[in-house]
Amino acid sequence: MATQLVISGHKLRIPDEETLVGSWVKSLGIEPERKLFSFNGRVIDRGSFLDLTSKTASNLASSGLLPGDRVLIAGENSLDLVISHVACLRLGLVIVPVNVSYTEAGLAFLIEDSKPRAALVDQEEWHELLNSIDSDLFVSSMAVETRSGPNPDLDLAKPEDPALIAYTSGTTGKPKGAIHTQRSLLAGALSVARAWEWTESDRLLLCLPLFHIHGMGIGLHGTLLVGGSAVLQKGFDKDLVFSEIAENNCSMFFGVPTMYQRLVEDERISQLASLRLCVSGSAPLPADLHQQLKDKGGVDVLERYGTTETMLTISNPYLGERRAGSVGFPLPGVEIQIEEESREVLVRGESVFKGYWSKQKETNDSFNSGWFKTGDIAEVSDDNYVTINGRIKELIITGGLNVYPQEVDEVIQAHPEIAEAAVSGVESQEWGEEVVAWIVMEKGINSINIDEVRKYASQYLASYKIPKRLVIVKELPRNALGKVLRHKLREKE
Ligand code: AMP
Repeated sequence: MATQLVISGHKLRIPDEETLVGSWVKSLGIEPERKLFSFNGRVIDRGSFLDLTSKTASNLASSGLLPGDRVLIAGENSLDLVISHVACLRLGLVIVPVNVSYTEAGLAFLIEDSKPRAALVDQEEWHELLNSIDSDLFVSSMAVETRSGPNPDLDLAKPEDPALIAYTSGTTGKPKGAIHTQRSLLAGALSVARAWEWTESDRLLLCLPLFHIHGMGIGLHGTLLVGGSAVLQKGFDKDLVFSEIAENNCSMFFGVPTMYQRLVEDERISQLASLRLCVSGSAPLPADLHQQLKDKGGVDVLERYGTTETMLTISNPYLGERRAGSVGFPLPGVEIQIEEESREVLVRGESVFKGYWSKQKETNDSFNSGWFKTGDIAEVSDDNYVTINGRIKELIITGGLNVYPQEVDEVIQAHPEIAEAAVSGVESQEWGEEVVAWIVMEKGINSINIDEVRKYASQYLASYKIPKRLVIVKELPRNALGKVLRHKLREKE
């Protein structure tokens, strides 16, 4: 394979027999009275957490669940969800997290595909639905009863045992279940903990959804691994973020760009400066927003990159320049390869998943000689900072020339009258595809002229990259993590 460049992070040494749950139990077993989580006024220490997860696991075992069985978990962030999640992993069960905004059809697909034996679900209305899809399914509310029962064997999973099947968002076809093992999950959390100097004195404000690898695999698993603590929130609420940071002495916040956009518009933004680390990821953080956060809030946000399949792979440095628009360098234990012609990012390392659940062909197609093909395009600066330019599938080819949508988005949304923008290619007889921009206007402004936008963009972009048409919309279609769903833009023409 023709390669342009391979860059590697520092070595990540993990003892052969180490597992995710094994590491947690070690770090939480000391100083049992130390505060671990708080949620809605309820505080739980390390000792009670280990005890509750063990009792929950005992109850799940007495329902007949055996190591290797899949368990669907669906609910908004809560302490009960965290306890159930950890109990399942300690028992050797395989978690299938579900986005609570799934439709009935989406849920039915997931059941059909992952064939779980149990479902722990908050929404009452889903209980009946789940049983109508599979009458053998053991369905329980998230707060599994914790009556005393026989003690099952806990924390015996082996490093290569599956621990999680995380479904990809499925923007181009049916979602695929990425299988992570005890070891890949451990490597993913450990690599970030090392890179960001995450220690037991840290307190994370965690409002990212726990059904996604960012909130769960990094935020939750990392907290348990380092023995730190977390203030858990049901979801993102700007007021709660500001009030809890101040009240709870938090030291870290992990967010996605749309959260930072909401925060920077608030006059309390400088409160973020009390944190030692603010991280952004899951979608590009516009360079302009990065700068505003610095100017208005005094925060130098650290941007990182990753995928459900690989966990986090590239991060700006904790110490050193956090470059706006770039995602930085490979994390410890990760190797990155940028393919010469396509500029696709390929990843190798211990945090990479083991394949798609019951999809051998898709698994084979997604690897090239042991490297996972991310489907993202990137470039690398002379000093090895990686910049993600977008998805290969979203590349626009107009008049035979390549346009990377992300670059155009950034320029258009920096226009003072435009709040948000996303471009996509639309079929055109003349150009093959033409660049069209979907825009949301700033408050109080209702219209804008295409000629004006083109004139503005021509200061920064080559002429073939400048949108030929504009579509003004009220909001851009985004997923739960604020990622723009480009394939849905065309439905809004
Ligand atoms: P998911 O599997 O839902 O975590 O989505 C992974 C995808 O999100 C990647 O393949 C990228 O396209 C995108 N992504 C994640 N982080 C970033 C980032 N910092 N900048 C640009 N795109 C990102």
